[in-house]
Amino acid sequence: MSEETIFDKILKNEIPSEKVFENEHVLAFRDIEPQAPIHVLVIPKRKMESFADLADADPRDVAAFMQGVARVARELGLDENGYRVVFNTGRDGLQTVQYIHAHILGGRSMKWPPG
Ligand code: AMP
Repeated sequence: MSEETIFDKILKNEIPSEKVFENEHVLAFRDIEPQAPIHVLVIPKRKMESFADLADADPRDVAAFMQGVARVARELGLDENGYRVVFNTGRDGLQTVQYIHAHILGGRSMKWPPG
C-alpha cells in the first residue's frame, strides 16, 4: 500500500481544493502555488505514484488519464494559444507529491529550456 498523500485527501474531499473539472477517470484542481496565470493539476482517480508507473499500467487507464488531461486543457480554454504539460517524476524531476499528477500551465508564453 502506498502512503497517503495530500492528493488522496483532495480526491476524498477531506481537504478543500478549487476543482475545475471532474469525470469518471480524473480530477483537476488549481495548484495552490501557481507558476503561470493558469496552473491546474490533473490526477487519475485510479492511483499511481509517478509517471514511471505508466510503463506497467493498463493502457486503458493511461489513455483515460491522458485524454482527461487534454479535456481539462480544452475546458480551460487553452487549446487556441497552447499550454505546457509537465510531469515532475522522481527525485531528479523534483516530484514532491507521490501521487501522479500532470501540471497544466498556460495563460502566458512559456520559456525553453526549463530549469
Ligand atoms: P510536484 O513538485 O510536481 O510534485 O508538484 C506538486 C504540486 O502540488 C506543487 O506545484 C504544489 O504547489 C501543489 N500542491 C501542494 N499541495 C497542494 C494543495 N493542497 N492543493 C493544490 N495544490 C497543491
